[in-house]
Amino acid sequence: MGPETDNFQFIEAKFFTRFTNGTRAVRVIVIHTMETSERNNIAEDIAKDFAHRPPDKKASAHLCIDNKKIFQSVKDNDVAFAAPGANSDGIHLELAGRAAQNEEEWKDEYSTAVLENAANAAAQYCLKYDIPVKHLSNAELGDKKSKGFVGHVQVSEVFHRSDHRDPGKAFPWDHFLARVEFFRTERKKSLGLA
Ligand SMILES: [Zn+2]
Repeated sequence: MGPETDNFQFIEAKFFTRFTNGTRAVRVIVIHTMETSERNNIAEDIAKDFAHRPPDKKASAHLCIDNKKIFQSVKDNDVAFAAPGANSDGIHLELAGRAAQNEEEWKDEYSTAVLENAANAAAQYCLKYDIPVKHLSNAELGDKKSKGFVGHVQVSEVFHRSDHRDPGKAFPWDHFLARVEFFRTERKKSLGLA
């Protein structure tokens, strides 16, 4: 197992599955949008929402990320209730923003900051779980062994157990993964691995 991850402020989600059988095998990093407006402190608000979910609305994710802060809701080794089909082998990142954002909206100051924070956080998981900085196809997601990044929408399309379409058609995958690669390299340098 690679280096331990960052210690984010932790607000434990109400619903998740504690993994007690050693180290969980993580193969996909799943990107979500919170479907929220662009404002400060939304990451904390969503983490608090995950902590107080009613039983008929079970939901959680590992990290809640906005333009300034990151809150952790589920520990890395535990299973979030985020996208059925990719929960047991996924790390789930909730990004402030909406799936309906267009290309320009993903480039505004707020979303750019969200993407930077998310890319930096994702980079730690690439190192920890040896996940390549690669956007998987639906076929690769479905093969149950390829490692990389997917959107929640792909989990819906492949496993047919939810109808969520986030993070949306205009999510800037190329820009995002380039930033993940940048932070992955920076982290390797600071760890003396490169
Ligand atoms: Zn989602």
